[in-house]
Amino acid sequence: MGDVMDTATLVRSGSSHAVDVVGDCIKRIRSRDGAVNAIVDFDEERALADASRMDHKRDNGQPLGKLAGVPIVVKDNICTKFMRTTCGSGMLESYVSQFNAFVIDRLMDADAVIVGKANLDEFAMGSSTEFSTHGGTRNPWDQQRVAGGSSGGPAVAVASRMVPASLGSDTGGSIRQPASFCGVVGLKPSYGRVSRYGLVAYGSSLDQIGPFTTSVEDAALMLEVITGHDDRDSTSIKEEVPAYSTLLDQTLDGRRVGVCEACFAEGLSDDVRQSVEAAIEKMREAGCEIVSVELPHMKYAIASYYIIAMAEASSNLARYDGVHYGYRTPQPGDLADMYASSRGEGFGMEVKRRIMMGTYVLSSGYYDAYYLRALKVRRLIKEDFDSAFQRCDVITLPVAPTTAFTVGEKVEDPLAMYLSDMYTVFANLAGLCAISLPCGFDAAGLPIGWQLMGPPLSDQKMLSIAYQYQQMTSYHLQTPAIATD
Ligand code: GLN
Repeated sequence: MGDVMDTATLVRSGSSHAVDVVGDCIKRIRSRDGAVNAIVDFDEERALADASRMDHKRDNGQPLGKLAGVPIVVKDNICTKFMRTTCGSGMLESYVSQFNAFVIDRLMDADAVIVGKANLDEFAMGSSTEFSTHGGTRNPWDQQRVAGGSSGGPAVAVASRMVPASLGSDTGGSIRQPASFCGVVGLKPSYGRVSRYGLVAYGSSLDQIGPFTTSVEDAALMLEVITGHDDRDSTSIKEEVPAYSTLLDQTLDGRRVGVCEACFAEGLSDDVRQSVEAAIEKMREAGCEIVSVELPHMKYAIASYYIIAMAEASSNLARYDGVHYGYRTPQPGDLADMYASSRGEGFGMEVKRRIMMGTYVLSSGYYDAYYLRALKVRRLIKEDFDSAFQRCDVITLPVAPTTAFTVGEKVEDPLAMYLSDMYTVFANLAGLCAISLPCGFDAAGLPIGWQLMGPPLSDQKMLSIAYQYQQMTSYHLQTPAIATD
């Protein structure tokens, strides 16, 4: 049983008290976070009060929910009424939302305890969690390495075993890549599966919220809790929610796993290649049929993703103007200066770069050449996947071309940073579900993840295949030294 399930079961039965579970969690945050900087804010008093309410409920004979007493942190771009939501930006340094995100209400309805907010790249733009006003998050396996990003904080909080689960957001890989760098499970649900109401928008046609956990069964349980229809997100799907966590134990016999040879070509480190190939081999031995698939437009994915993501970002971030929201320059000259200076001072360098590039690709004269063309490529990539999925149930890929890179290594080189998303952006462009699973360690002892992608709304089948892989391995059980202090 996973850590989330375990905790909830113990609290529900009264064998554990939620106040003790949450109290221990706060202690771990206090002792471990100094080294990794995963947590932006936590509220001990509130968390303990929530926990004790839960204990009372149980003691009075009332049933507790699926996440009874489970301490959770969420990425700091998910709105909470009771704690600020900074997005790692000077723009929203003191912003407190008027409402909770849909997923926050869902977690609380399931009796989880939201302990704090976790670090991220500013407005979720980045692949390393180095672009945050709260400072960078470090990798718990080696603090000279990055955590991955943009959901580095939520990934590290789980990898360091501060909390059994967290939520992140994934626009082009921001759940899966840090999960892979930190040795935990990271799930990006199908587009439309989880409501983004209350998620600060980055690329609205790509964004999706999902969990980090230490096991597939916990990821399934978290998805079960946070998914479902919500009128306030027009992309939210009205499909029934399967009981994901109870449907995992299915045979692999006859399951078809697609492998695209071209994904294992240049740029992929040997350690990652070997571990991912070994994982595929394990699936074959366990009864899966390995089929070869083609993704002919793969090489255009990064270009298409960055054009679309930046275009959408430039539009979504137009609202931060010093009037509607957030930071306003203290001594503006005239009105134009107030807008320009508020944005100039409030946003960080990477966000500004993206707003400028996004505005450029949307401007008249360039719109057809860049934005429209990127949309056409996106359609071709989607069609590649549609035809590949005619032949298989899931497609497997690495998550990232390398293990966690060194702090500072790519900060000055945006292109190198963008290329670390080469295997993850497909799922967002095509609306697929995808998961990152621990599958080994490199020569330096850094975790390696591999990725399964399934057709839209095949989350349940993908999770059951992932679960069978996990049952054959123990990589997900290994923890960094920081987690055992
Ligand atoms: N690294 C990608 C980007 O910077 C993905 C970010 C994300 O998924 N939020 O856009």
